Amino acid sequence: MGSISHPEKPHAVCIPFPAQGHINPMLKLAKLLHSKGFHITFVNTEYNHRRLLKSRGPHSLDGLPSFRFETVPDGLPPTDVEATQDIPSLCESTPKHTLAPFKKLLQRLNSSPEFPLVSCVVSDGVMSFTLNAAQELGIPEVLFWTTSACGFMGYLHYKGLVDRGLTPLKDESYMTNGYLNTEIDWIPGMKNIRLRDIPTFIRTTDPNDIMIHFILTETKRAQKASAIILNTFYDLEHEVVDSLRAILTPPVYTIGSLHLLLNQIPINIPKSIGSNLWKEDPKCLEWLDSKEPNSVVYVNFGSITVMTPDQLVEFAWGLANSKKTFLWIIRPDLVAGETAVLSPEFTAATGDRSFLTSWCPQEHVLSHAAVGGFLTHSGWNSTIESICGGVPMLCWPFFAEQQTNCWYSSGEWGVGMEIENDAKRDEIEGLVRELMDGEKGREMKKRALQWKKLAEETTSGGSDLGSSFLNFEKLVDQLLRRL
Ligand code: UDP
Repeated sequence: MGSISHPEKPHAVCIPFPAQGHINPMLKLAKLLHSKGFHITFVNTEYNHRRLLKSRGPHSLDGLPSFRFETVPDGLPPTDVEATQDIPSLCESTPKHTLAPFKKLLQRLNSSPEFPLVSCVVSDGVMSFTLNAAQELGIPEVLFWTTSACGFMGYLHYKGLVDRGLTPLKDESYMTNGYLNTEIDWIPGMKNIRLRDIPTFIRTTDPNDIMIHFILTETKRAQKASAIILNTFYDLEHEVVDSLRAILTPPVYTIGSLHLLLNQIPINIPKSIGSNLWKEDPKCLEWLDSKEPNSVVYVNFGSITVMTPDQLVEFAWGLANSKKTFLWIIRPDLVAGETAVLSPEFTAATGDRSFLTSWCPQEHVLSHAAVGGFLTHSGWNSTIESICGGVPMLCWPFFAEQQTNCWYSSGEWGVGMEIENDAKRDEIEGLVRELMDGEKGREMKKRALQWKKLAEETTSGGSDLGSSFLNFEKLVDQLLRRL
């Protein structure tokens, strides 16, 4: 039943976890639902809302009458510093401090004649406390895990790892004594995975570790959702997706890649509505236009990775010595404790072979013909955007399920090569050359192009409907039936 002025119009309240790699896919999903006739309320944290207005302009979140923004607090101390938020602190604070304001928001939306009654909550998988509010108010809720299916599978098996005494680690020496190479043979769909490829929060010696407890709670609550959504496609992760479907009670909809799906469905949202917390530099696209096809190495470690000054210098010289042309995105907060400064010698050595800036429109970069390889931290959004762009990767995973994505990229999917965490310039130089000119690089490019084709087919709304396209239709159908 809808409110009097909006009979039957469905209303989805979309709430992402407050970090860049979560807001991006949730906004895409919200746009897709809007195109299917949903009224959308998109809920950012107050902190991120302010940042978005700053990076994208004061009217960028004005929205439409049928696509509106609301805010809730994240529970962290107020700050104007535009840095990456601390993920463990957010994981600890949001369940405690965001639930009550979120419930109030749902009640306010439902009591206002201005809006249709809320018919579903679409929440980030790691904001599952929202289920408490939705259930109390009798609203169905679906959870969107913005990880890969394999990363999600890793998290779902934290309980098994704890029960078997494999984590927490006995002491610090277990981080380096080869223990992380232990093979695990009991996770369905993940043959010969090692502990080091499982999402990194198991690498702790603390039995009260916040992140282990957080993951155990979130994965347990996943079973209570009306459905689980994943931004991946069936062909890419079919074994794991089949296993997930066997383990989970709610239906699992693979609807990725969302950015390709968005190209298939007419969207009527102003272009200004975006989700980048940092200001994009569009000039890098013009610079790419001036380069030969497949000639540029694109380097970006995402929104959270922090490296040491030494690691920055090793990457800088590895890239410089490879003699390849590169586009390097260096966030102002990329280097721990200081602003990244590269020496005048580095600038002189690379000259117009390099373009350095602090943030870029990544999807456009990865679909640009000039980009031949991607040096990445293997965040899931970056990985799927690269696969869909047909771009092979050098993987330098930082944390969370990036290690799992790296393992699949360099193993089963055949589109990546791993860089050791403490790699020095010579190794980096060698891998960059291999990626761009070597036999292995050519093979990876071939595989990446095959995945790209499959990714396009799976999101196709043409005569042969793809599985992601169809799954999205099924999801919409379920939400319209308010199940
Ligand atoms: N991104 C971007 N420009 C940049 C860096 C990142 O648009 O300069 C986007 C990227 O396209 C992706 C997201 O930010 O959608 C990063 O998410 P990912 O899961 O790759 O990594 P995280 O930032 O969560 O570690």
